[in-house]
Amino acid sequence: MPQQLTDRRDQEFVIWEQMNCAELLQYEKYQEFNQKTCNMVITEARALAIKELLPILAESDTQGVRYENGEVKVPQSFHRVFELILEGEWNNLGVSVEQGGQGAPPFLAAATAEYFLPANWPLFCYATMGNGTANLIHLYGTEEQKKMYVEKLTSARWGGTMLLTESEAGSDVGALTTTAVKNSDGSYSLSGNKIFITNGEYDLAENIIHPVLARIEGDPLGTKGISIFIVPKYHVNTDGSLGERNDIVCSGVEEKHGIHASATCSMTLGSKGNCIGYLLGKPCEGMKIMFNMINGARMSVGLQALTYASAAYLLSANYARERIQGRDLENFADHSAPSVPIIKHPDVRRNLLWMKSYVDAMRSFFYFLTVCRTQSLEANSEEEREAKGDMFSMLTPIVKDYLAVKGHEICVQAIQVFGGAGYTKDYLVEQYARDCKITSIYEGTSGIQAMDLLARKIGMKKGAVFMNLLAEMQKTVARAKETDGLGDIAVQMETAVNRLGEIALHIGQKAMSPEFKVAFAHALPFLYAMGDTIMAWMLLWRAVVATQKLDGAKKKDAAYYEGQRKTAEFFIKTELPLTMGKMDAIEFSCAAALEIPDDGFGGL
Ligand SMILES: Cc1cc2nc3c(=O)[nH]c(=O)nc-3n(C[C@H](O)[C@H](O)[C@H](O)COP(=O)(O)OP(=O)(O)OC[C@H]3O[C@@H](n4cnc5c(N)ncnc54)[C@H](O)[C@@H]3O)c2cc1C
Repeated sequence: MPQQLTDRRDQEFVIWEQMNCAELLQYEKYQEFNQKTCNMVITEARALAIKELLPILAESDTQGVRYENGEVKVPQSFHRVFELILEGEWNNLGVSVEQGGQGAPPFLAAATAEYFLPANWPLFCYATMGNGTANLIHLYGTEEQKKMYVEKLTSARWGGTMLLTESEAGSDVGALTTTAVKNSDGSYSLSGNKIFITNGEYDLAENIIHPVLARIEGDPLGTKGISIFIVPKYHVNTDGSLGERNDIVCSGVEEKHGIHASATCSMTLGSKGNCIGYLLGKPCEGMKIMFNMINGARMSVGLQALTYASAAYLLSANYARERIQGRDLENFADHSAPSVPIIKHPDVRRNLLWMKSYVDAMRSFFYFLTVCRTQSLEANSEEEREAKGDMFSMLTPIVKDYLAVKGHEICVQAIQVFGGAGYTKDYLVEQYARDCKITSIYEGTSGIQAMDLLARKIGMKKGAVFMNLLAEMQKTVARAKETDGLGDIAVQMETAVNRLGEIALHIGQKAMSPEFKVAFAHALPFLYAMGDTIMAWMLLWRAVVATQKLDGAKKKDAAYYEGQRKTAEFFIKTELPLTMGKMDAIEFSCAAALEIPDDGFGGL
């Protein structure tokens, strides 16, 4: 039976064999979970995703959302399955018990999301987005605010959003013009217009709680003058019941390239002069508070892209096994020879292995960061918590953007494997490619992630965090050198790691020199070169673990483990040399992109 959505064997390998997540279950907080219960939870999630969410994916993409007089209707089929998600409490599996969730370890929540997201991301997002809002209120709200909102948001009976973007304030959030004026009762009156707001309005929740970024009248320009407000769609009475409608309305929804069933709303605040919001935290702390949500959201976006890529890869690998077309190359001249499944053709095999190598490596990388994050909160020593937190923070822009961009490329290559059929709506690969594109745009575009990496992350703690990363990679190289059959790729990897260190120093120094703009013109290529090297590391690590398990493995496992060794060999011998070229280009520091006159771009 072909795997759907996510390769369960690979997921188990990463979680239990490579990342050794069983160790995390030793933490006090996760005592109720063991390997068996975790596997059972994943099995149930998979069943629900395949049986209920996936069958309505294509249909909901065709229907999209409907805007009518300030209201947004989701596809009708969503209502029943939304209830199933809530009944099973899948919407808050990884949310802490203190916040009203199930308290599962983050790797387990991610493992279940690996099924739910590609099965129907818009639907799952309606059920889970309130967790982020709840978390902000849980961390920064008054006792009264916590009591009023957190439980309802975590249960998904009320929805949550994030209102940052305005037409003139996209990447530059600090340019926002939504204003807040203090009222005599301590509340604020807000006025402004927000755009592109996910789940700003929809008909699955009784109430929607909007965290809104706005500037209190008179506060400084830029990000340092931004505050954050809780703006409920319906006011909430002291007994928890719903009160009057607040003056925040959806004025339209976007027609989009993908994620059609997700409502992307324009929101008008205070058109009747009566949009009431409540300050969360202190004035001017808005960005600091919102960043709690943004970092988690960036991980989620990376995961979203990975899961589309994984599902698209599985569909194309299965199609390649079944689609009969063309003779085997060795019988090319023999017209009487039988046609073969396209998986027999060298170019199709190359493409599949290219896709597999990235999907596998991205999955490992995602769980690596999930483990770092858990350890940053739960590890026994302060030193370890700090080290893991730093690693997580440094690599967040890469998990966000590298997975987004590579995930999209994989979906596009999946279309290629299907040939003409891939370009039709007969198979989901076409939808996955469209849906995946958003991941390199929202939660900070590629360019913004690259600037974050170069300007803030590489130099963290005077470069010590980056050096720790290289040291971790070299540990894997050392193990690979001692592993049968991996010696030559270990040496290639070692060269790449050393080169990455040189290039980071080069671009980091340039970024602090008068030629800093040249450095920033190479920031995104640097992010990709670093991402590639991380991919190679993850695959080499996999190959080391797989080799240890090969001896005496059952037939099916042996094929899986041998597949891991070949995947690492493929990536390190065919993709990593391209990365070495990318690193040369970064060192060369060509300034043409800056020197070309604006009119020289042509088209005038
Ligand atoms: C489907 C969808 C859902 C969304 N959901 C939400 C949501 O729930 N809440 C919310 O607040 N927002 C949301 N957004 C908005 C999203 O976060 C922004 O679109 C995104 O941050 C980019 O802003 P922008 O569209 O204004 O592009 P711009 O900021 O105009 O950027 C255009 C291009 O210029 C580049 N660029 C801009 N500034 C710089 C710079 N300083 N240096 C280098 N390059 C730069 C960008 O990388 C990009 O390629 C959503 C958007 C979409 C499409």
